[in-house]
Amino acid sequence: MCIFCQIIKKEIKAEIVFEDEEIIVIKDINPKASVHLLLIPKRHIESLITLEKKDASLLQEIVFRAKLLAEELGFASSGYKLILNSGQGAGQLVPHLHFHLLSGSEIRDFAI
Ligand code: 5GP
Ligand code: ZN
Repeated sequence: MCIFCQIIKKEIKAEIVFEDEEIIVIKDINPKASVHLLLIPKRHIESLITLEKKDASLLQEIVFRAKLLAEELGFASSGYKLILNSGQGAGQLVPHLHFHLLSGSEIRDFAI
């Protein structure tokens, strides 16, 4: 079972910021900015590369949750990035789809 599935099953500890039936949001263990959250669908979907149309609405849920969390946690006005690495060639290390939600002065320098 992948590391995020183990976190979802509470077999491995993580700092949980938000959770509902479909999604879990945790703090990244190795933050790259002052705010670095991971938004993860609870269903094990490997990546955007393998996403099927029936699961596509999950992405809408996650993107809107990112927007709400940015407001609730108070960093919407300073700006944020929502990043989805898809495939090892793009730097995806954990083979379970997840968005990175980043905020803080560090992210200005992140190149695309
Ligand atoms: P990727 O490179 O796959 O897009 O991002 C994986 C992210 O998951 C990395 O930023 C890494 O720090 C984070 N991560 C890996 N293992 C764990 C873990 O056990 N707990 C938490 N909270 N984050 C993790
Ligand atoms: Zn998984």
